[in-house]
Amino acid sequence: MTDDFFDPRAAGGSLFDRGLANDAQAAAQTARSDVEFLRHEVDRLYLVTEALWRLLKDEHGYADASLAQLVAAIGAEHARERSDPEGRPQPPCEKCGRQMGRRQPKCMWCGAERILDVFGR
Ligand SMILES: [Zn+2]
Repeated sequence: MTDDFFDPRAAGGSLFDRGLANDAQAAAQTARSDVEFLRHEVDRLYLVTEALWRLLKDEHGYADASLAQLVAAIGAEHARERSDPEGRPQPPCEKCGRQMGRRQPKCMWCGAERILDVFGR
């Protein structure tokens, strides 16, 4: 990714416009750095989780199916906790059928975008 596609100094406009462009460029750079840091942290968590799971399988005989079942159950619990104040369940993902949180714009399991119910309340 490069920052060179837009150079506010060459874009003309007022000093104010260029100041805004510079601010936007700095904010975008900060956001990219934050995303990069979070990707690194997610990668690290993924490695630690995988190592722990391998230990549990190798040392204690747990099976992948048990983990998948527990992950699904915990995901459903979290979705219930995030449901609206009246306790109405959230509709599951249209693509994979797993529970999605109320405010999740995308399914955390398959990445499918939430199909908004325009009449939903
Ligand atoms: Zn899904």
